Amino acid sequence: MNQNITIPFIEGDGIGPEIWAVTKQIIDKAVAVSYEGKNKIEWVEILAGMNAIEKTGLPLPDETIAEIKKHKIAIKGPLTTPVGEGFKSINVQLRQILDLYACVRPMGYIKGVKSELKHPEKINMTVFRENTEDLYGGIEFKMNSKEVHEILDIVKNSNSKGYVHFPDTTAIALKIVSKQASERLIRSAINYAIAHKLPSVTIVHKGNILKFTEGGFRNWGYALAKEEFPDQTYTWDTKDSVDTSNRILIQDRIADAFFQDIILNPQKHAVVASTNLNGDYISDAIAGCIGGIGISPGANINYKTGMAIFEATHGSAPDIAGKDIANPLSLIFSGVMMLHHIGWTAAANLIDAAAKQLILKGKVTGDLSITKAALSCSEFGKALIEEM
Ligand code: NAD
Repeated sequence: MNQNITIPFIEGDGIGPEIWAVTKQIIDKAVAVSYEGKNKIEWVEILAGMNAIEKTGLPLPDETIAEIKKHKIAIKGPLTTPVGEGFKSINVQLRQILDLYACVRPMGYIKGVKSELKHPEKINMTVFRENTEDLYGGIEFKMNSKEVHEILDIVKNSNSKGYVHFPDTTAIALKIVSKQASERLIRSAINYAIAHKLPSVTIVHKGNILKFTEGGFRNWGYALAKEEFPDQTYTWDTKDSVDTSNRILIQDRIADAFFQDIILNPQKHAVVASTNLNGDYISDAIAGCIGGIGISPGANINYKTGMAIFEATHGSAPDIAGKDIANPLSLIFSGVMMLHHIGWTAAANLIDAAAKQLILKGKVTGDLSITKAALSCSEFGKALIEEM
């Protein structure tokens, strides 16, 4: 049976157009080969970022949101966000407006990849980062604003033991962590561990300092596992009273200790669930141990509606944009995740196997190369097409 699917794409800023051109070719080739021309992706360009500002005057036009809602799927390159001024991150806006509450980043060592660790093969973790709240809620007030003084008055008159050393030169951002958002994220992480037969879910938090927000995230997570997955999970406290052979360990780590574990004990963690900001840091730290953000894929998913945007985890890399040296693998592997998501497993596996084969042969871009003979972004694309 022929199958056609329409997928909107955002090219992205900086290195976006270079890595997207290669990614699109690879996906089209894999689909054509795997289904002998019977399946086809109709690509529809949608605008966001600098490209959108140039063409429409807006960084995120309404049509872009409408198109993603219509097709319930999209793939995107990285988008630039101005620092300290300008518009709110479009990546964050897309995740919040479309309620793509789980940022899913699978990160496993690929044989042949250059790593600074002695045993990078011990790393095989999937990060579930909460994607809609925390400090990314965008509730922030400037130094000396009326709102800052009002909030400081509330703090002064409350039972909080909050301490503000320089009230007249303080800017404030609010950290938002809800039970609902924490629960749906941790539920998705546990379901993922069950579906992929993984041994543990580690809840990473800073609940020793932020007791109600980060501590809430941790406590709601344990409570949810106990209530909703009583026969599929266990904790260190219950391990001697249940048969753990077919169960998932629910454990937690304070965020700073978890960063140490990434280097010293990565094998202790399979699925990681965290709040938004910690998840952002954690995923780049893990990626850095196994080849860098140039090869780590990501998806923003709402598991209830099935809507998803697949995207490279790195940014627009302005320092290397336009030079044809960027590694397209992060976006290519995000495409692999997307093909799995729509059930086109043969095409996904074809790309995955061919990319891993190329890496093993040392045919890689500069960021992964241990010799001077690195491939350019477009050369890597050609080599991957030949490998499939
Ligand atoms: P970055 O990820 O763009 O770059 C960090 C470093 O990694 C740079 O040295 C860069 O050259 C390198 N790098 C990144 N991607 C690479 C690739 N594919 N191949 C080889 N090297 C690669 O981070 P940044 O410089 O902090 O941010 C630049 C812009 O990107 C900012 O505006 C930031 O807001 C935005 N950003 C967007 C996203 C996204 O769209 N999801 C994510 C992170 C940052």
